[in-house]
Amino acid sequence: MLPARHRAMSDEFTGLLGRLRVEAAEFVLPQRCLVCGRFGAALHPECAASLPAADGPRCHRCWRPGAGTWCERCASGGPAVPAFDGLRTPFTFTGDARRAILEAKFRGVTALLVPLARAAADVVPGEWAIEAVVPVPLARGRRRSRGYNQAEVAAAEVAGCLGVPVQKRWLRRTRETPPQASLTADARSRNLRGAFEVRLPDSAPRRVLVVDDVTTTGATLEEAARAFRAAGARQVYALAIARED
Ligand SMILES: [Zn+2]
Ligand SMILES: [Zn+2]
Repeated sequence: MLPARHRAMSDEFTGLLGRLRVEAAEFVLPQRCLVCGRFGAALHPECAASLPAADGPRCHRCWRPGAGTWCERCASGGPAVPAFDGLRTPFTFTGDARRAILEAKFRGVTALLVPLARAAADVVPGEWAIEAVVPVPLARGRRRSRGYNQAEVAAAEVAGCLGVPVQKRWLRRTRETPPQASLTADARSRNLRGAFEVRLPDSAPRRVLVVDDVTTTGATLEEAARAFRAAGARQVYALAIARED
């Protein structure tokens, strides 16, 4: 076992290699649009606009489809109400939106994240008045093997679009958790209980937007929001590129 300091350095080195590999691949291979197949971009803005939209009536708070203004859970007003004040996603996690996110995540096509994140920034309601954007951190092991965190890439772009700072250090994982995809909805929220810790500087803005790539049950974003509330954030909103309906 390496001492912690060396371990951290070797993590950083492996991460750097992963990132270089990704950037080299993006540089060498001419980019082809995932949707139309033409060369010149990983995803044209007009092709991003054709991805499956998360439209139709949705709960204003949790973005669940089919509801009028509020879904049953959010209308209950009790402790069951999601910890975030609102969630938005421009797309559903289907068709080419799903393909684009998976390519970004597992094949390192991070260039895809820029148009996707811009589309996400477009659906952030102005009245949220976001003051800072925070990416959901990856578990350390997963960050190490992938070399980058797709939520971080997306969050930086969203922050740029909204004209506010991105804060990568406010939200941390307190422990490694098994990948959410392998778990049922109940197990997902149990898996994440207390998994995040928030450290806010005294002067920190109190209206934050937490960004992830995909949301399924909303459990990760809810747990992150809970940690922000405990740390004194006043309004916590959530944004992802796609929602698994
Ligand atoms: Zn295209
Ligand atoms: Zn709802």
